[in-house]
Amino acid sequence: MQEFLPAIEANAPAEEFQSIPVPESYRAAVVRAEDVGVFEGMPSSDKDPRKTIHIQDVATPELAPDEAYIAVMASAINFNTVWTSIFEPLSTFEFLKRLGRESKWGARHDLPYHVVGSDASGVVIRVGSAVRNWKPGDRVVIHCNYVDDQDHSAHNDSMLAANQRIWGFESNFGGMADLALVKANQIMPKPEHLSWEEAACNALCNSTSYRMLVSKNGADMKQGDNVFIWGATGGIGGYAVQYVLNGGGTPIGVVSSPEKGKLLEALGCEAIIDRKTANYRFWNDEGHQDESEWRRLGKDIRALVGEDPDIVFEHPGRQTMGASVFVAKRGGTIVTCAATSGYMIEYDNRHLWMKLKSIKSSHFANYQEAWEANRLIAKGAIQPTLSAVYPLEGSGEAAYQVHKNFHEGKIGVLCLAGKEGQGIADPEFRDKVGEDRITVFRRLGA
Ligand code: NAP
Repeated sequence: MQEFLPAIEANAPAEEFQSIPVPESYRAAVVRAEDVGVFEGMPSSDKDPRKTIHIQDVATPELAPDEAYIAVMASAINFNTVWTSIFEPLSTFEFLKRLGRESKWGARHDLPYHVVGSDASGVVIRVGSAVRNWKPGDRVVIHCNYVDDQDHSAHNDSMLAANQRIWGFESNFGGMADLALVKANQIMPKPEHLSWEEAACNALCNSTSYRMLVSKNGADMKQGDNVFIWGATGGIGGYAVQYVLNGGGTPIGVVSSPEKGKLLEALGCEAIIDRKTANYRFWNDEGHQDESEWRRLGKDIRALVGEDPDIVFEHPGRQTMGASVFVAKRGGTIVTCAATSGYMIEYDNRHLWMKLKSIKSSHFANYQEAWEANRLIAKGAIQPTLSAVYPLEGSGEAAYQVHKNFHEGKIGVLCLAGKEGQGIADPEFRDKVGEDRITVFRRLGA
């Protein structure tokens, strides 16, 4: 794949890319089927992605008519790569088997290795015969909504498609590699004021937060809303805070250290709760939810903003959901996309129905939502939350950092980009947006 670098650096025309042969194999971060079961019996927190994410050469898959090959310059760690690498809640090889049964093209994905990664920035190097809107040489970012647009169910909101998948998690040939295989309807233009790694880290988390808060498919936030955000300097939380501020609302951000609190302040969030200092114990020692602890959190929120949250941005799941349902205001919305701490949830239903609250589920974003979220990055209205960068060989360590919650925002992974800071094609616009704003997580992160 190195052969493509001079053409990428020179921003060469399509014909030049077309003349460079696509190699028969490429370097990738993979999880291996032979490792499923290595962590059996261990608590989640002890399962170590460094043991199961391997760097190896894999065969280049055949290109389907509606697909493109991407020369990947950079990728990013998402929590789904942590799940894949620790085989929780189930092995992603089950997803690949299911996709394998779907069609001739699906069968390519069912392999004893899984190329992980659901984010990428890079350059299109080949397109299939049915691809109209993209050509070799296009500088792009990739979103992870993987849908078969021949299915009728994909044509209202494609997240409702019967065979909707997350690329690089429920499909193979993901972004943590030198080459990625994507559907044409995953491609979006690269925001050109950003480096490859700054551009690569956004699509999954930024689009998820956009749908959860801004889209009519999510909580449909309005001006003046108080939005309570768990993990406010985490992968999705760092974008959520920015959407609330841009939308004329008040974020109330939760973090777990003074350092993360400083980062949140720098983002412009004034109402901050440090959950470690507050030491909420929503589950008591007998394994029951403790309503007095929910009330304590509610009081802490009122002390900061004088009101209850219109929206609760929920994703930790089991540890927090009872409190999230309780603290939302009468008629408020709890929007949830995950359950990091456990998916069997307990909350008091009386607080939900008597106060006419709603729990709204959300999952990634459709192409239009991802496009709009990417457009806001390109306009400099939303900033990347990149806090650290690893080489592809360090993918296991990078996933370990996220698993252990040692990180802030997003961790980038350099693939073909040999070093940080490359790929900025619009330095004037970068200056206009402001280096300090673009790099806030990189400068203030751990
Ligand atoms: P992340 O970067 O690890 O950030 C999550 C943050 O949540 C952590 O930094 C932590 O912040 C906080 N947190 C973790 N455990 C907590 C607990 N028990 N109680 C309270 N706060 C806790 O992860 P992410 O990228 O933001 O993703 C968060 C979750 O959403 C993951 O489960 C991920 O798989 C899921 N997700 C789902 C979608 C989707 O489309 N459905 C998309 C993206 C992510 P503090 O320690 O500072 O409080």
